[in-house]
Amino acid sequence: MHKVGVLALQGASRRHVEALTALGAHAVEVRTPQDLSGIDGLVLPGGESTTISKLIDLSGLFEPIAERLADGMPAFGTCAGMILLAADVLDGRPDQRSFGTLDISVRRNAFGRQVDSFEADLAVDGLRGGDFPAVFIRAPAIERVGAGVEVLAAVDQRPVLCRQGPVLAAAFHPELSDDLRLHQLFLED
Ligand code: GLN
Repeated sequence: MHKVGVLALQGASRRHVEALTALGAHAVEVRTPQDLSGIDGLVLPGGESTTISKLIDLSGLFEPIAERLADGMPAFGTCAGMILLAADVLDGRPDQRSFGTLDISVRRNAFGRQVDSFEADLAVDGLRGGDFPAVFIRAPAIERVGAGVEVLAAVDQRPVLCRQGPVLAAAFHPELSDDLRLHQLFLED
């Protein structure tokens, strides 16, 4: 994967761009449908999923992104980005939309409020080099995982990192750790 888009409507896009660039990818910020041209994959960052959903609609990005995802474009959703990829969103706003690419049900803010943000060392299936230091910020919980979804890591037996075909999703913020292994995993897909 060479050229990777990072959805940059709201939230934590900059550190994703830095991580992807450090790994040798050509990272571009996506704000308009034109920005999607030529990208091989898309990162959907953390932030506020209700706001990002609204901005996706306003910028005319919903249909073009949905089409690319349906065509099998690799995607990496982190925190709010995972919510945007999920089939079912619990405790969402009624007008909040998601792409439904990943067969999981997620509950927003299920680990607690902002003050309850936490870090956890995750044992990630197939990842060499020891635990991944994961930063959770008002994280969503994955409450249901469909048959085609592989769980790669869990906290207290709750899935927090999963993959379905070319789509990878984390309940946490991998771009906030100085550890590029999950971005590397995404680029290798
Ligand atoms: N709580 C946010 C939401 O529901 C997600 C938090 C995050 O991305 N850090 O959209």
